[in-house]
Amino acid sequence: MEIKCTDKELLIFNKIAAAAEKLQLPCYLIGGFVRDKIIGRPTKDADIVCMGDGIELAHAVAALFHPKPTVAYFKTFGTAQIKLDDFEVEFVGARKESYNQDSRKPDVEPGSIEDDQDRRDFTINALAISLNKNDFGKLVDPFNGVKDIEQKIIQTPLPPLQTFSDDPLRMMRAIRFAAQLHFTIAPETFQAITDNAHRIKIVSQERITDELNKIMLSKKPSVGWDLLFRSGLLHLIFPQMVDLYGAEYVDGKGHKDNFYHTLQVLDNISANTDDLWLRWAALLHDIAKPATKKFEEGHGWTFHGHEVVGARMVPKIFTKLKLPLNEKMKLVQKLVLLHLRPISVTKENITDSAIRRLLFDAGEDIDNLMMLCEADITSKNPNKVKRYLQNFELVRKRLQEVEAKDQIRNWQPPISGELIMEKFGLSPSKPVGIIKDAIREAILDGIIPNDFGAAYAFMLQKAAELNLSAVE
Ligand code: ATP
Repeated sequence: MEIKCTDKELLIFNKIAAAAEKLQLPCYLIGGFVRDKIIGRPTKDADIVCMGDGIELAHAVAALFHPKPTVAYFKTFGTAQIKLDDFEVEFVGARKESYNQDSRKPDVEPGSIEDDQDRRDFTINALAISLNKNDFGKLVDPFNGVKDIEQKIIQTPLPPLQTFSDDPLRMMRAIRFAAQLHFTIAPETFQAITDNAHRIKIVSQERITDELNKIMLSKKPSVGWDLLFRSGLLHLIFPQMVDLYGAEYVDGKGHKDNFYHTLQVLDNISANTDDLWLRWAALLHDIAKPATKKFEEGHGWTFHGHEVVGARMVPKIFTKLKLPLNEKMKLVQKLVLLHLRPISVTKENITDSAIRRLLFDAGEDIDNLMMLCEADITSKNPNKVKRYLQNFELVRKRLQEVEAKDQIRNWQPPISGELIMEKFGLSPSKPVGIIKDAIREAILDGIIPNDFGAAYAFMLQKAAELNLSAVE
């Protein structure tokens, strides 16, 4: 097995080997770096395990570079990091671990390279490369990790029930690696995840959500979400998603399975953007369908208002998942709220005023909204798909035309509240808001153009209706 390192990586590893030799500390490259090199994925960090004190080795390695990099070390964990330009190296002493039932934090004692490989989560993550003088570059693969990489299989080195019970985060990691690498989880390993799913309760939400975000950023995120569902983990970590699953039938009439529809929308948008938050918006766009579902006689299944209820659910879901409650959450919320608007615009004849209102409500996010709507087309009927896409093409064209003419996308009121107060001698009060709203509505409806002169004249007219007179 030939492993291709860059010249820079080789230079770093040679220095590590020299420092380790001097300290008489056997050491190995281990884990994700080795795995990714064999797969051919880009690498930006490497883990080094040594038979002894990792912090001591890190200091000795740092001393061999000019200028000398800073060593960031954590005494309690016995780990140290150095950053060499954009490449990060982490050092740790080899350890042997034993777990107890209530915690994913093991008792740790110094161990051999074999002990250290035993405690790794998957065979593909347990590969090591020697940095020792006598066998520099030798691959140490006690669990046939290379074979599993070739066969694209994720399995645990030790019996999986034990591995997952010891540290249930590994269940999320298995699914995340399956999604990222497009590997299959071995049946026995997957069964053990299913059997241990309940143990996820001892893992912190932050760690779970880290893995969810990595799944979200994989090429085809549906792979990860489907595995979470099939293992039963999703029921515990995100039950609202599970509620989307399945189709209900009344009088032989069913609705589509909103879980798999959602996953398809997520994959569709992921083919067009790497933006994590647009992907979350796709995942959540129909989240309120179960809560708003009704069977209406003569009409069939409806989900009236699911976009409004869904937008209200977004902050709650973000809070529960410990996703950030900032402008990213607001973006997701806005896209969920507006995701039906471009469709409803195509159902009427596409008036300027409907387009202006869409531009006003979506603002800077109009292109993101259109991207979500196009991803939302999951029909298997090619004629329908073609028709829907043509409709959206028309909406995009009309958006451009109206924006060029009226500049609504970054709309700022042409008349400020201050000006209204000054003109009519008002303090901040209801009439100020009434006039401002009336001007905005008149512009959006196309009654007046979007400019200062027209808005000023309209303000005077509206004020007269309210019996307000201008102060001289
Ligand atoms: P990535 O950088 O994409 O997250 P990685 O495999 O490098 O992938 P890290 O979390 O950096 O992941 O972990 C480095 C190595 O440490 C892994 O390859 C694995 O050998 C080991 N490891 C990490 N977390 C665990 C865990 N929970 N249980 C057992 N081994 C683990």
